[in-house]
Amino acid sequence: MASQRWTGRPGFPYDRSRILVGLKKDRMNDTSMALPAAIRLSGVNLSLGHDAARVHILKNIDLHIGTGEAVGLIGPSGSGKSTLLMVAAGLERPDTGQVHVAGQDLGKLDEDALARFRGRHVGIVFQSFHLIPTMTALENVAVPLELAGAADAFDRAAQELAAVGLGARVSHYPAQLSGGEQQRVALARALAPHPAILVADEPTGNLDEATGREIVELLFAGHEKRGTTLVLVTHDPSLAKRCDRTVRLRSGHIERAEQDA
Ligand code: ADP
Ligand code: MG
Repeated sequence: MASQRWTGRPGFPYDRSRILVGLKKDRMNDTSMALPAAIRLSGVNLSLGHDAARVHILKNIDLHIGTGEAVGLIGPSGSGKSTLLMVAAGLERPDTGQVHVAGQDLGKLDEDALARFRGRHVGIVFQSFHLIPTMTALENVAVPLELAGAADAFDRAAQELAAVGLGARVSHYPAQLSGGEQQRVALARALAPHPAILVADEPTGNLDEATGREIVELLFAGHEKRGTTLVLVTHDPSLAKRCDRTVRLRSGHIERAEQDA
């Protein structure tokens, strides 16, 4: 259905690799500025908590992530990486400033519209998987697809699970799956609606090294095959290196953006 195979993002389709190569030749500092924005944060501030425990977490964040980019979000623990990711994914609203995702001003959407928008355009992967324990792997992937209006949700969910190597585990419940398998289900769930944007918060943080590497390959396969914009919080330098560039947070500020390639 149309909303599931959404191609209305600005500038799509285009040859991402050609644009990036061309820009690198021009020695541009920040390739993202020339790409249509997948995510644009302007003047974002966010405080959370109450009274004495209130913390100013995000401070005057301006961030432009181009369509089809892979960006690694790095920085010390407590610097605001997860909070920034949640704002960029439309799970948290800023106190001030604007958030545009795939051309949509998220501030203009009420809660229901925002939830629908996320369901169609943003895939989210957490460190601790966040699967629904009372649902099988297949249901975990199919139910959000069904909520987004897909008629063939269960068939597509089965395909997505097969694509992450879990074709033989569709009837298993999360407790019957290893950590790596649970994260594969979470990844299948995030990728199933073919979102324009995939955000992942330390997706390999709870996994051993070899299992983590398999998850990384699957994450980047989606990015490379489908042109999905990828924003990845990570402490793993090798994972950060695979991204087109990294953005470093320190005490709620963007410290610097660097070109990795
Ligand atoms: P990171 O992901 O970089 O480790 P977070 O975004 O999780 O950082 O948190 C940034 C800061 O905000 C931390 O100091 C954390 O304690 C604080 N924080 C996060 N969530 C809340 C909340 N709901 N209420 C109060 N403070 C919070
Ligand atoms: Mg975090």
